Parts: sequence; structure tokens; C-alpha cells
Amino acid sequence: MLYQELTKTDNLITDKVNINWQEPLIIAGPCTFASYEELYEIASSLKKRGITFLRAGAYKMRTNPYNFQGLREAGMDILLRIKKELDMHIVTELTTIEQIKKYGHLIDIIQIGSRNMYNYELLKEAGKTNTPVLLKRAFSASYEEWLDAAEYILKEGNKNVLLCERGIRNNISNETRFVLDIQAIPYIQHNTPFKIIIDPSHASGNAYMVPSMAKASLKAGADGLLIETHITPEKSLCDSKQTIDLDTLDEIIKEIR
Ligand code: PEP
Ligand code: MN
Repeated sequence: MLYQELTKTDNLITDKVNINWQEPLIIAGPCTFASYEELYEIASSLKKRGITFLRAGAYKMRTNPYNFQGLREAGMDILLRIKKELDMHIVTELTTIEQIKKYGHLIDIIQIGSRNMYNYELLKEAGKTNTPVLLKRAFSASYEEWLDAAEYILKEGNKNVLLCERGIRNNISNETRFVLDIQAIPYIQHNTPFKIIIDPSHASGNAYMVPSMAKASLKAGADGLLIETHITPEKSLCDSKQTIDLDTLDEIIKEIR
């Protein structure tokens, strides 16, 4: 496997985005957005807090086809405009080969969503770019399947893969959306050269659980956090229940710094 030949420093040191791994990377932003104004307001509030990685979805992988699917092309235009205006790094999910061809080189980190971790043709296309890829673990995937998915990207020449644990499915119905597999942190760090980013938002599905899960992940040594954040979470068009507000984000940032 190619990943076994990578060193820790090969991974994610690109001329595209230079990430300072001395402290945990915070990627934040709304699940999706409905307008330029909405996203600009959130992005500038994040920037004021020193967060330069803005994650927001233009192409949403919604379980229910009648739910808002994102602003799509218009959303990508907004993301690229805000990238320029606020000098921020854009992290966003791309869901088709065509989208990767069109936008892969224009954004800073391509997110591959949980539902697409097994989409091997999509992984190959992401592997043909030299843009870092945030590969979310499918909620049913073993560590081996997740690493095999990463290998698809590496095999095409892109070594810049970041792994994202976002909760796995158990067979007990309960309050939470998924279950955060915090053991993935030592597993990935001990056995692979990859950085591991924890997404406590999708894992728990509840905003009130996000700070403790974020702090627990930091204590366990996570390399970064991906947190759904909005100025007015209740107005968020998608995943509002798990989205935190800026005061809660400040609490998590305080823990890091
Ligand atoms: C998201 O990041 O908004 C998302 C849909 O996540 P996942 O692919 O992990 O479900
Ligand atoms: Mn979401």
C-alpha cells in the first residue's frame, strides 16, 4: 500500500495550502447556505476568530430528495467570491467527477462525503488533482475500507489526504445521530501517516454534545476539528440541530489556545 511508504511530512504539505500542524486545525462553517450575505456574515465572524478554513456546502448529499440540495453552481460562485474577498481557504464537498474537473483546482480542500467514500471513480478523479482531499469515513466503513478508499486517491498521484471521522452507525436506536469513534484517533495515528480530523457535529447530531465531543477529541490527540457553525443555528437550512453558535465555538477555541 502506498500510504505505508509515505512519511508523516509527505502528507498534506502542498504549495496550495500550507497548514500549520503545531496546533489543531479548525475547519468551521454552516452545513449549507442560502445566500452570499448569509455566508459572508458567518465567514467574516470566523475570520475575526483566526479561523481561515471555511467549510460550507454547495452540493449537499441529502438523504431525503425533497430537502434543500444546496445552491450548487451558484453556491460555488459564492464560495469562490468569499475566498477572494476574505482571503480564506475553502473546504467544500464535491459529489461528481464533473464537479471535481470544474472546481477541484479552484478550492483548497475537496471534501468527499461519507456517502461517497465507496464511490471509487469519484475518488480516482480527486486523486488526479493536487488539491488536498478530506476523506470522510463512511458511517459503515471499517478502518481497512476507509484506508483502501484513501489508497484510491494516493494511487492516482495525490498524496494529500486528510481523514475525517464523522461517526459510525450502531445498531441501537438512541438520541444521537451516529456514534463518534474516538478510537479512530489513536488507530490512524499509530498505524498510518495520515492526519485525522474529527467531526463531532455529524457524529452526535446535537449541538449541546459538540463541545464535549470536540474537547474529548482534542484530549485524544486529534489533528483537527470540523465543526458545523452558524451565527443563528436555528436558521440554518440544513443540520440546524447539530450546528453550534459562535459563543460555543469560542469555548472550543479557548480549549485549543
Ligand atoms: C456534511 O459534512 O455536511 C455531511 C453531509 O457530512 P457526511 O458526509 O459526513 O454525512
Ligand atoms: Mn451537515
